[in-house]
Amino acid sequence: MAAVVTLSVVVPMYNEEEVIETTYAKLTEVLEATDESYELVFVNDGSRDRTAAIVRGICARDARVKLLDFARNFGHQIAVTAGMDHASGRAVVLIDADLQDPPALIPQMLALWREGYDVVYGKRISRQGETWFKKTTAKWFYRTLAAMTSVNIPVDTGDFRLMDRKVCDALSGMRERSRFIRGMVAWAGYRQIGLEYAREERFAGETKYPLRKMVRLSLDAITSFSTKPLKLAGILGFLLSAAGFIYLIVVICQRIFTDTTTAGWTSLIVISLFFHGITLSLLGVLGEYIGRIYEESKRRPLYLVADKLNFEGASEDSRE
Ligand code: UDP
Ligand code: MG
Repeated sequence: MAAVVTLSVVVPMYNEEEVIETTYAKLTEVLEATDESYELVFVNDGSRDRTAAIVRGICARDARVKLLDFARNFGHQIAVTAGMDHASGRAVVLIDADLQDPPALIPQMLALWREGYDVVYGKRISRQGETWFKKTTAKWFYRTLAAMTSVNIPVDTGDFRLMDRKVCDALSGMRERSRFIRGMVAWAGYRQIGLEYAREERFAGETKYPLRKMVRLSLDAITSFSTKPLKLAGILGFLLSAAGFIYLIVVICQRIFTDTTTAGWTSLIVISLFFHGITLSLLGVLGEYIGRIYEESKRRPLYLVADKLNFEGASEDSRE
């Protein structure tokens, strides 16, 4: 796609009716002050509230705002991907709709980009207004992931970042469906730099990332960037057989050299439950990978767009 503006800002939105106007106003204020040409790409990820209607209103009065309206909810990472696919800027910024990532940081990101960096990622030094549970799970998740992968994914970074056009193109060429964008950017390489910031409280509304979506994102991250869990079965199997073998020798020796015979229905049940548990868990690990291979093999498009506004060319909806 021909680059027509300097900066594209991609904002995924799922049921964000309470924040859109403020986010739009804040972003516009910051971007106008930079004196760069820019566009705002708002992606409506199948919201069930008035998100689309509000964005349509903004699009009508500001041609720099573009709307990508999804056919249904495809998820945050896919929404961001679609925004990047449709962004035309020489640099692309990804930012959440809820103002947890401060737009005021964008000028600093731009400055670092001008200095020659291809990726400027926001690194959270603190997180405000988020539950203890979220902070702790996030902290451990990033560290486990780092230990499991050979790709150097920076810890405590979200998707708030600026990317050069070439990085954006590289990512757009990666059509995998389990997407963990911060990992994919790390994988891509180029000149990257972190920019530290304090993550604010959500401006309004509540999180659109319930536990279910968080677990899914973590599993996508791990399965996309590591095959270590697959090797777990082999390692555990080997250790357990070794332990079983040693115990067998102990029992035989007991039988030959002493009068005691090892009795115990309870211990048998416990051991049997334990090992069946391990076996099934490992099957679950296999399932996570196989399910993803299956999803990938269907080769369906990553997302479906119901309508586009303010993009060049005709509207997707032939009735309009
Ligand atoms: N989001 C989305 N689709 C979803 C869930 C979330 O586009 O299925 C968007 C949401 O509107 C927001 C961003 O992703 O702009 C991050 O979501 P949220 O702020 O709820 O996550 P948290 O900050 O709590 O991790
Ligand atoms: Mg948020």
